[in-house]
Amino acid sequence: MKVIVLGAGIVGVTSAYELAKAGHEVTVVDRQPGPALETSFANAGEVSFGYCSPWAAPGIPMKAMKWLFMEHAPLILRPKIDAAMISWMIKMLSNCTSGRYAINKSRMLRLADYSRVSLAALRAETGIAYDERMQGTLQLFRTEKQLEASAKDVKALAADGIPYEVLDPEGCVRAEPALKHVREKIVGGLLTPKDETGDCFKFSNALALKAAEMGVTFRYGSIVRSIDVQGGKVRGVVTAHGRIDADAVVVALGSFSPLLVRPHGIRLPVYPVKGYSLTIPIVDAARAPESTVMDETYKIAITRLGDRIRVGGMAEISGYTNDLGEPRRLTLEHSVTDLFPGGDISKAAFWSGLRPMTPDGTPVIGPTKVQGLFLNTGHGTLGWTMSSGSARVIADLVSGRKPEIDATDLAIARYGAR
Ligand SMILES: Cc1cc2nc3c(=O)[nH]c(=O)nc-3n(C[C@H](O)[C@H](O)[C@H](O)COP(=O)(O)OP(=O)(O)OC[C@H]3O[C@@H](n4cnc5c(N)ncnc54)[C@H](O)[C@@H]3O)c2cc1C
Repeated sequence: MKVIVLGAGIVGVTSAYELAKAGHEVTVVDRQPGPALETSFANAGEVSFGYCSPWAAPGIPMKAMKWLFMEHAPLILRPKIDAAMISWMIKMLSNCTSGRYAINKSRMLRLADYSRVSLAALRAETGIAYDERMQGTLQLFRTEKQLEASAKDVKALAADGIPYEVLDPEGCVRAEPALKHVREKIVGGLLTPKDETGDCFKFSNALALKAAEMGVTFRYGSIVRSIDVQGGKVRGVVTAHGRIDADAVVVALGSFSPLLVRPHGIRLPVYPVKGYSLTIPIVDAARAPESTVMDETYKIAITRLGDRIRVGGMAEISGYTNDLGEPRRLTLEHSVTDLFPGGDISKAAFWSGLRPMTPDGTPVIGPTKVQGLFLNTGHGTLGWTMSSGSARVIADLVSGRKPEIDATDLAIARYGAR
C-alpha cells in the first residue's frame, strides 16, 4: 500500500519506520529541512514509561490558581479569544476528576509500557545510539504534601504492575549521588527504575536514516496544504510542491494536526502547550544528574544527555507561538542550579516547543471517519516516551492487523467524534 506520513517529528519518523517494516511504500512529508526540528528537537529527554501521568488531575484547578501567582511558575496562561483554546481548556478541566484521572493514567501507562518493549526491540534491531541511559526517573519531593500526593500515583503504578520504589532522602542520594550536596532540600522521592533517558533529536535522525535505507522517501522542505479526500476516502495529499497519491495517510503533525483534518469534519482536540528547555554543557560531572530527576515543585525535568544537562518544563497556554521569554529561562536556570550546578549556564542553549496536548493526556491513535485517514498525534508531554509503541499500533491498524495492545480507547472515537 502507498502510505504517506505527514510530519517527520519523533512520531512521524517512528511511524514511517514501522510502516516500512510492515511492507508498505512509505513517503514522509515535512516542511522542515530534516527530522525532529520542531517539538521533538530539544525536549527534556525523559523516556518515562513509569512516570507517566495526565496533567488533568484532581486538585489541578486549585493548584493552577496558585501557580499563576508563583515566581517560578510551572503554568503560564495567556488567554485569547480563541474557540479552540477555550474548548480545550473546558475539556481539560472536565478531566480533573479522580475517575477520569484513573482511566486516563491507566491508558497512558498501557501505551507507555508497550513503548518500553517496542523501543527495546527497535534498539536491538537498529543498533542506533542517542545518548541513551537506563537508570530510571526520580520524582523529587521537597515538601511532605508532595510526598503524600504521590500516593495516588503509587496506587496506579501498583495496579498496573509498573516497578517503583518510594525513597527517603538517603535513597534519593543513592539514586542520584549529586543530590548529597542539597540533601536538606529533599523530603523524599518516587523512583521508577525501568525508565530511560535519551536525545530525541539524535534518535529521530538516526532512525530516519534507517528508514531511508529500508526505502522510505523523505520529502523535506515541503509544506502540506491539504489532504485530498474524495467520496469519503483519502486519495493523497497536496503539498506546496504538488500532489502525492496515497492509499492511506497518517497524520503526525504534532500541534498542527487539527488544522489539516478539520476541513474533513474531524474535530481533533489537540492544542499547543508551550514548554521550554535549556541544554547545558557539563563542567563538573559530580554535580550533574545521572538520569532524569523530576523536580515536583517546579514541574521541571533535569536529565543527563551524554556530556550535557537538559532541563525542560513549564506549560504555557498562549497559542501557536514559539517566542522565548527571559523569565522562563530564569525559572529553568533556578531549578537546575538549585539541585545540579554542574553545568556552564553561560553556554546554555535556550529553546521552546509546542506540546501537542489532548485534554485527557492520552494521544489520539487510530482511524477516522474518512477511510484511509489515520491519526497518530496528541502525544503532549510524553511523545518521545510513547512514540515507539504508538508507531507499532498505527502500523498494525493501517495494515489491517490487530494491535498487540488494546487500542480501541486510543482512537478519536473516544471523544464521540467519529
Ligand atoms: C519543553 C518540552 C519538554 C518535553 N519533554 C519530554 C520528555 O522528557 N519526554 C517525552 O517523552 N516527551 C517530552 N516532550 C514532549 C515531546 O517532545 C512531544 O510530545 C513530541 O516531540 C511530539 O512529537 P510529534 O512528532 O508529534 O510532533 P513534532 O515533533 O512537532 O513533529 C511534527 C512535525 O510536523 C511538521 N509539520 C507541521 N505542520 C506541517 C505542515 N503543514 N506541512 C509540513 N509539515 C508540517 C513539523 O515541521 C514537525 O516536524 C516535551 C516537550 C516539550 C516542549
